[in-house]
Amino acid sequence: MRILAVELRRLELELVTPLVTATGTHRRRPVILVHLETEGGGGDGECDALAEPNYTTEYADAAEAVLAAQLIPLLLAGAGRAGEVGTAEEAFGRLAAVPGNPMAKAAVEMALLDAELRASGRSLAASLGVARSSIPAGATVGIGSVAGVIDAARAAAACGYRRLKLKIAPGHDVGPLAALRRELPDMILVADANGSYDLADPDDRAALRAIDELGLAAIEQPLGAGDLAGSARLAGELATPVVLDESIDSPAAAEAALAARACAGVSVKPARLGGIGAAVRVHDACVAAGVHLSIGGMLEAGLARAATIAVGALHGFDLPGDIGASDRYFRPDVTAPHVLVEGELAVPAGMGLGVELDPGVVGAASARCRAFRPS
Ligand code: MG
Repeated sequence: MRILAVELRRLELELVTPLVTATGTHRRRPVILVHLETEGGGGDGECDALAEPNYTTEYADAAEAVLAAQLIPLLLAGAGRAGEVGTAEEAFGRLAAVPGNPMAKAAVEMALLDAELRASGRSLAASLGVARSSIPAGATVGIGSVAGVIDAARAAAACGYRRLKLKIAPGHDVGPLAALRRELPDMILVADANGSYDLADPDDRAALRAIDELGLAAIEQPLGAGDLAGSARLAGELATPVVLDESIDSPAAAEAALAARACAGVSVKPARLGGIGAAVRVHDACVAAGVHLSIGGMLEAGLARAATIAVGALHGFDLPGDIGASDRYFRPDVTAPHVLVEGELAVPAGMGLGVELDPGVVGAASARCRAFRPS
């Protein structure tokens, strides 16, 4: 592949509904886009880093800076004549010279794959060997009053969602979850604690035992990201499958969690793991270990949502996932919206990521754009 130019663009979007979690409130949604112009056509990638460093240490401003100062120049340095970078995999492999920054790197990988797949007329889903044409969608409801949670859950059910994740934290857990169970008995429920419980706290332990009585499909990241030993203990005590999310920030972290038998399931977020290739490696390792899988969301805009849906259609994903339709997050989205049909989202089947950026939406939301060329 020969890259002629790279464009790094920052959009400023707002979420349709702010999301309150145990670690903060998400309102703004900066979106960093990487566009590659190659001899064989274009490719686009989206960076999932959030506005604030309250969910991961990586965040949008930092991702944008490292893309501009390190990753894009490294990509363009290439291996041969100006802009010649080899295959997408070879080009992406060179970015390992910069430590960390998985979400920034994942945006470059997405753009490289999109360009390479489009040039060869293939879709991401086909290249991953995905057989499903759609995945079950999931709606996420943030922390709030019991009445507010019930209203939001009813609205999601009315739209056709059959799987719902409720964000919880100590003091905001058994009450709303039990109310949801009563009000929507057929809804498949997951609770996501974002690491907010502590096994050393008797109240937290009592709350976790009470949550375990509610017949949830999973409880996600009850304990801190680094507490694999505690998670292993809890996974042995609870009937509800314990799923790790924040703990799984790289394929190596997934291997460590599997070796420690720290969970019954893993939430795969391709961007946080360092990209689509890393997500597939974690998927395969979990399948081999007999561990359940859930596809995780990062408040993606349409481009990354397309990639996440394709990854989430891999055969090992058997737990309720996070991925909802575009209109729960952005109106309008940066691509044609991913829409809910009978509780499912279609796996994009078009070339590359299978979606196109909307120039009008992108232009209106653009805060800045920088261009880079091989020297
Ligand atoms: Mg989570």
